[in-house]
Amino acid sequence: MDAIRSRIRDVPDFPKKGIVFKDITPVLQDPATFRLAVDALADRWRGERIAKVVGIESRGFLFAAPLAYALGAGLTIVRKPGKLPWERIREVYDLEYGQDALELHIDAVGVGDRVVVVDDLLATGGTAEAVGRLVARQGADLRGYSFVVELGFLNGARRLGPEKVHALVKY
Ligand code: AMP
Repeated sequence: MDAIRSRIRDVPDFPKKGIVFKDITPVLQDPATFRLAVDALADRWRGERIAKVVGIESRGFLFAAPLAYALGAGLTIVRKPGKLPWERIREVYDLEYGQDALELHIDAVGVGDRVVVVDDLLATGGTAEAVGRLVARQGADLRGYSFVVELGFLNGARRLGPEKVHALVKY
């Protein structure tokens, strides 16, 4: 995973002062590293009969789509309010300051579907946890979460259940 780690760029003070943004665009841009990352995500879930990969807007989509293809699974997207056209459910979650919300189409996952939730990065886990609630409300079988990057010092895995969290690179 060193090849992936070496292509994660630290951008200090983005999007605001005090945040070190982990930029995954160099992973996407390098053909071998992008393939390595998608293959490593897929290796975790191969043989687990995953029905749907759930990608979180927006960087989660970049990994969820090729992962779904690699697993022969369907792709489902979770989006910010106002983006999904069909009937949907919503979960609100807390940010450092204020709240945000995410939405899922009501027919996006089915009862008993084995799903994996994907995002580029796990920080506090609030975002992924809200997505977990969305798929659970639809009766899906949440098998776990995959991330390219985990910021371990923020304890997001504790919030999601450590046994459910898979990450390629941990800080
Ligand atoms: P959280 O809900 O705290 O786990 O935050 C995770 C979401 O925020 C993911 O969608 C990430 O893409 C984004 N995010 C949070 N912190 C960072 C960071 N330091 N670098 C890049 N993205 C981040």
